[in-house]
Amino acid sequence: MTYVIHDVSILGGPPTDIAIRDGLVAGVGTGLDRAGAEVIDGTGLVALPGLVDLHTHLREPGREDAETVLTGSRAAALGGYTAVCAMANTSPVADTAGVVEQVFRLGREAGLVDVQPIGAVTVGLAGEALAELGTMATSAARVRIFSDDGHCVADPRLMRRALEYVKAFDGVIAQHAEEPRLTAGAQMHEGEVSAQLGLPGWPAVAEEAVIARDALLAGHVGARLHVCHVSTAGSVEIIRWAKARGIRITAEVTPHHLLLTDDLVAGSGDQERAYDPVFKVNPPLRTAADAAALRAALVEGVIDIVATDHAPHAVEDKECEWEYARPGMLGLQTALSVVVRECLGEGGLDWNGIAERMSRAPARIAGLDDHGHDPAPGAPATLTLVDPAARWPVDPGELASKARNTPYAGMELPVRVVATFLRGVPTVLDGKVVGAPITAMDGKLVGA
Ligand SMILES: [Zn+2]
Repeated sequence: MTYVIHDVSILGGPPTDIAIRDGLVAGVGTGLDRAGAEVIDGTGLVALPGLVDLHTHLREPGREDAETVLTGSRAAALGGYTAVCAMANTSPVADTAGVVEQVFRLGREAGLVDVQPIGAVTVGLAGEALAELGTMATSAARVRIFSDDGHCVADPRLMRRALEYVKAFDGVIAQHAEEPRLTAGAQMHEGEVSAQLGLPGWPAVAEEAVIARDALLAGHVGARLHVCHVSTAGSVEIIRWAKARGIRITAEVTPHHLLLTDDLVAGSGDQERAYDPVFKVNPPLRTAADAAALRAALVEGVIDIVATDHAPHAVEDKECEWEYARPGMLGLQTALSVVVRECLGEGGLDWNGIAERMSRAPARIAGLDDHGHDPAPGAPATLTLVDPAARWPVDPGELASKARNTPYAGMELPVRVVATFLRGVPTVLDGKVVGAPITAMDGKLVGA
């Protein structure tokens, strides 16, 4: 199938046409040959390289009641994503070639986004023995990112060995930075609000201390470190320092840490809304000053990328007392809208900056060669079209995810994804998922 996207703005530039043929961008410019092509009206739309999420929980295998690779892939495509990296904290844990290959295969079968499995750093996420990093790297899933996310690799000797191991194949360790002995029993950010509510706090230093230690270890070993979901102003300063020293460190921030703050746990001025578990997340929502520092760091580039930490949960794990609720929030379908709301515009990011932080940079970190390319002749036709003028109310019941735990319910967000293409095949058209194409292991279409 050949497509011509007519009158579209590439990254906010002047209107032009994009021709798509055989999985590639065949041409860009006005007056392209439209013979036999399906024409998509791109008037008023912005074309971006397909978004890449470095931090997605798809819950399969093990918690298919919360999400599956297929439902998570649908949410991702609708959010403008063409690739997601699936976290390893499934059941069983993705700590062997067998499990990462299973997740990889399920992603190919769903056929909506490239699902790139992340391997566990330690066996069973237990933090005691290194998992089979080498066999996961050489498996069909070709794992390059390893993470115990949900847990911190707290043992510095184990962290050092993991960094040394992945250096050989230019892998990266993605650390959930949380010193567990400083956060035992924690229920929210440690600060004024936790003191008011009498809830045990999760202090910023528990994150900052681990980032500092890991940056020094990564520098010592000469390996790549990626910091998951940076949540404090102090962490930004440590990452800035590490980058200035030439340490190979990259960092992500979640949309929710850019927008939401810890006063929501107290109801944000409305007692009735206090202790809503939809706002429980790890690391916790921090202060307004932290959120402002994170936005500035993303704009400046100290924080390299936005990652969703999409964390679907079954109703019984979320609609319960605050203390017993599982931490985590949905993110795939709202991420671009939240980032645009918080960071697009004067003094912030332009569309090119958003493409860098949500597509090109995450694709580079993950080593996903098919992704992160601006629409240009010869590039993979892996892109998303967004309507920058649209606004939409977030209705949890309308989201494609199996779970409903979005913190943005009832909010009106800007920007709507209109279409998404994966290697020339539309996965979303008119804001709706289109039938999943069947792809072979090499990503080539074998039937439509
Ligand atoms: Zn985490």
